[in-house]
Amino acid sequence: MSISSKILDIKKELPENVSLIAVSKYHPTEEVMEAYNAGQRIFGENIVQELRQKQQELPQDIQWHFLGHLQKNKIKYIVPFVSLIHSVDSPELLTEINRLAEKAGRVVPCLLQIHVAKEETKFGFTFDECRRMLQDGQWRELSHVKLCGLMCMASNVSDETQIRSEFRRVFQFFREIKQQFFADDDAFCQRSWGMSHDYPIAIEEGSTLVRVGTKIFGERPSRTSSKS
Ligand SMILES: *Cc1c(COP(=O)(O)O)cnc(C)c1O
Repeated sequence: MSISSKILDIKKELPENVSLIAVSKYHPTEEVMEAYNAGQRIFGENIVQELRQKQQELPQDIQWHFLGHLQKNKIKYIVPFVSLIHSVDSPELLTEINRLAEKAGRVVPCLLQIHVAKEETKFGFTFDECRRMLQDGQWRELSHVKLCGLMCMASNVSDETQIRSEFRRVFQFFREIKQQFFADDDAFCQRSWGMSHDYPIAIEEGSTLVRVGTKIFGERPSRTSSKS
């Protein structure tokens, strides 16, 4: 099946309030163009250098989302154009994005990444760390970042019950902080969960942004460089 028919198939299944992010990391620009020509406009990448290069080469109306662990010294490369950073995992990172966004004359939309999976290797705030940051209130002074919601990755397991319960806990947490800190803020509404193997479950558990790579583009070619 072609990339464009896979995109159209997935889109057909999505409820109206859920957007598809086509995760094009490691895939060449020609494949991104195939998806683009099928009408796809939101793409996700997780390596700064690759994102930068694709942004320069590809149509300017693409909305680029950054999904990966972001190092402070790389923020400056994406801040001028990125549509949404999904992976804010510390107050320091948020502060630094704000500083560079101000320099670039932008307000950068961001999601807070929550660590809910069993794997130690995954990044993100625990619920308590996230609560503490929001209670601390310093984020309210950061006028060049906009908090738009939460992101998480479920454990990489086949047990659907576990995956579902992880998404459910994060959705519950979303509701809690929405009420406590963002009740009057309509922009705080995004819930980024669900990948190729678990996005149907994620949608049932409140996702508004699904991040699908393999199911659209096939298996990723292996990386030639491990540098991010
Ligand atoms: C790679 C990646 C995806 C897409 O994963 P697939 O299993 O290929 O759909 C989604 N989210 C993040 C954060 C990723 O790094």
